[in-house]
Amino acid sequence: MMGNQDLKALEFQVQNDLLKINIPLSPWVINPSEPSEMANTDFLDVAIIGGGMAGMAASFALMKEGISNNKIFDENPQNLEGPWIKYARMNSLRSDKRFLGPSLGIPSLTFASWYEALYGKESWEKLIYCPTKLWQDYLGWFRRVLKLPIENKMTLVKLNPSANLLELTFHQEGHPVTVYARKVILATGREGSGGFDTPLYLKKIPKRFYAHTGEVIDPQFFYHKRIAIIGAGSSAFDAAGVALENGAESVEMLVRRSAISQINKFSRFSYPGLENGFYLLSDEMRCLFFAAALKEGAVDPSKAAVERIKDFENFHIHYNTHIEHMVDNENTLLLHTNKKTLEVDFIIMATGYDIDLTKRAELDGIRDAILLWENHVPKELLQEFPKFRYFPYLGNHFEFLEATPGTAPFLKNIHCFNYGASLSHGLLSGDIPGLSVGATRLAKGIAADFFLSESLLYLEKIKEWQTPDFNSLDYLSLNKKLE
Ligand SMILES: Cc1cc2nc3c(=O)[nH]c(=O)nc-3n(C[C@H](O)[C@H](O)[C@H](O)COP(=O)(O)OP(=O)(O)OC[C@H]3O[C@@H](n4cnc5c(N)ncnc54)[C@H](O)[C@@H]3O)c2cc1C
Repeated sequence: MMGNQDLKALEFQVQNDLLKINIPLSPWVINPSEPSEMANTDFLDVAIIGGGMAGMAASFALMKEGISNNKIFDENPQNLEGPWIKYARMNSLRSDKRFLGPSLGIPSLTFASWYEALYGKESWEKLIYCPTKLWQDYLGWFRRVLKLPIENKMTLVKLNPSANLLELTFHQEGHPVTVYARKVILATGREGSGGFDTPLYLKKIPKRFYAHTGEVIDPQFFYHKRIAIIGAGSSAFDAAGVALENGAESVEMLVRRSAISQINKFSRFSYPGLENGFYLLSDEMRCLFFAAALKEGAVDPSKAAVERIKDFENFHIHYNTHIEHMVDNENTLLLHTNKKTLEVDFIIMATGYDIDLTKRAELDGIRDAILLWENHVPKELLQEFPKFRYFPYLGNHFEFLEATPGTAPFLKNIHCFNYGASLSHGLLSGDIPGLSVGATRLAKGIAADFFLSESLLYLEKIKEWQTPDFNSLDYLSLNKKLE
């Protein structure tokens, strides 16, 4: 085991690397010329909502572009941003340990460099996948070493245009706080453009009987319980693993299909051609790529997740099974399926995440103005993939577009950098492999926007520029020769 000395050396290396690529860059962003009524208002150039790895990558990418007046806000206490400590139940990530993550390709900022500094090269060579909790430690280090400006325990509850700025209302431990910004990045994760995908039959069932895999469940809760898991994707198997390891009496996994998926087609979305070219494809082609990936159903469980549960005799998979209705039997639930009736104590919904902007309260004031994919999905695909229509249809830099052109020009200043961006841009706004590509595209687009929106001011700056590179009086002899 290496340790703190090596980490200190790495941190020194990080600062050197940043200096070599001119970070911090001299600030260049000019304040907007209009409107005068906001002249005395403090504002950020960019407010980033979400302090997970996407928000941090976005902040770092902006820093690289010299846009330093940005700040990240996250609803959680420090180190509890994102799923890793709270509800990511797998023992290790399934992404290749070499992917760049939020590092933007700076070698000293990669997970590989951090891991080697702490545990040594030999351990790195032996490591197959990054342990989940270690990924959170790495992200904590990434935040610290880059001194990223994150304010925790700030929940965005409202987002509205105000003159030519955006007004953000947060709840900070019960108190409202208002922040103004020229641009907003919604780096709000898997749920960021919707929420949990939960079947309607749950509406009649008291909440004490169920949780979604995206909720925190104390592992000790499972002790001696009969658990049903709806779904058979990766989160379903991870939840089964935790329940069984913590003494569940039984785990019944209910699966509509006749087999569990074994193929993750989305893993074929991570190469430079697709990452850089997907958003330039026609609407039809983008939908066809997603349709091809989703045909297999949910993201399959990793081999490690299947290995984890395979020897538990109290684990059962029920294929071709769906719930017809449920009965609240006071302390237990009766699940009436198309095959048989099961009595359980608790259900875990491993049903994934929905795309549905109506579930995002912070978008209440602007949602209706946002263009969605509904009229951009080929008709023949809509029947099989009806949910495609609800994805926001984004511009080239992840910005929302107007449903009716000319009615909500402020939308170009709100950038959707969460799972909702995937049908427009591919997997660049959350998943570890493509994050650096996505954050770079986002930040470069924002830099260009700032310039374009005030191009006359920048032109004035050039006209005003009168700083000589040398003093001609020092070169009188040269002038004489020229005569
Ligand atoms: C269980 C699980 C396992 C995964 N495993 C992998 C994997 O192995 N490899 C891989 O590449 N990808 C994986 N992913 C996908 C992806 O990497 C993660 O979802 C990752 O957390 C995405 O990072 P993010 O920053 O986009 O979102 P998050 O990490 O979720 O961060 C978003 C943050 O925004 C905060 N937030 C949301 N709304 C508000 C608001 N209104 N106000 C303030 N804060 C708000 C959230 O609380 C959260 O802290 C996994 C996802 C899950 C759910």
